[in-house]
Amino acid sequence: MSAEAMHRYKLVEFGRPVEAVDEPLPELSGTEVLLRISACGVCHSDLHLIDGHFDLGQGQKLDMSRAMKLPHVLGHEIVGTVLAAGPDAGAVPMGERRLIYPWIGCGQCATCQAGDEQLCLKPRALGVNVDGGFGTHVVVPHSRYLIDIEGLDETLACTYACSGLTAYGALKKIGRLGEGDKALVIGAGGVGLAAVHLASAVLGVQPYVADLDPAKREAALKGGALAAVDPADPDLRKSLLKETGGFAAVIDFVGASSTAELGVGLLRKGGHFVSVGLFGGAITLPLPTLAMRGISLTGSYVGSLQDLKELVELIRRNGTYPLPVTPRPLDDVQTSLDALRGGKVVGRIVLEPAAR
Ligand SMILES: [Zn+2]
Ligand SMILES: [Zn+2]
Repeated sequence: MSAEAMHRYKLVEFGRPVEAVDEPLPELSGTEVLLRISACGVCHSDLHLIDGHFDLGQGQKLDMSRAMKLPHVLGHEIVGTVLAAGPDAGAVPMGERRLIYPWIGCGQCATCQAGDEQLCLKPRALGVNVDGGFGTHVVVPHSRYLIDIEGLDETLACTYACSGLTAYGALKKIGRLGEGDKALVIGAGGVGLAAVHLASAVLGVQPYVADLDPAKREAALKGGALAAVDPADPDLRKSLLKETGGFAAVIDFVGASSTAELGVGLLRKGGHFVSVGLFGGAITLPLPTLAMRGISLTGSYVGSLQDLKELVELIRRNGTYPLPVTPRPLDDVQTSLDALRGGKVVGRIVLEPAAR
């Protein structure tokens, strides 16, 4: 074993700042692969994981403290270089740079076998259930989770593992829309803007966008949105229904009570509402209208390994989307998390250990 050590930041107690820990490199077993990390995005869901819960609305909370054993290394948008492999790892791309698919399941159950590891009931998601990327090194259980990003910018490419995949996975839940069908994206943050960019390739239409922030509406229009509307406009629902006849698809990247109510209300008969954002909240839904309008409500959580491979291929073919990324040294992890919590981050902060 080399004298190289792992420098990582661990969440030791929920709600507290992460702490630096230096440890020797781990002994690898089975098919495990060790990567030296070159980039790891700081995602909004890291804040929920630090808090230890998600807000379910009406005073209810989803407790994450049982899924996450402390101390724990967060970070799930990881690019690294393959450094070492366990005895059963077989042929691995040693010394090569790879994007890691982090939403890893048990690999055994029917859901995993069907390729939906992100929905496994015994998840081993990097940065959520097992140690992730806020550090210099990460262990991945198998090289099948490594995706070649040759030729792509790694500071941006790491974000495909969560924000990009979340956008792509949600669009795929809808699939190709019919002639004349309209789509609406609610929330033009990083994930929403990625969806706007990817919509024409996946849905076959350019979407409308709704966002409270005029700067984000502007960014959405620049990014290819057909129109950008203000959800605070009291006449919005009426005017949009008149203009469009209702949307065939609405994707809610915010996930607040107000955005879900707006989105479900704007569906045409037979339309699909996809809930993605984890802001928190709840809605009441008159059940007869669900049946009589023939609408469907779906949740979408990140995406599958296959989805991430498809997304990387799509970006290779069509070019990437304009997500502003700010590289920062790994040791800035806590100030980066604080900035994100304070709403001061435009786009993504990406931690780069080499910049120590
Ligand atoms: Zn994320
Ligand atoms: Zn499983």
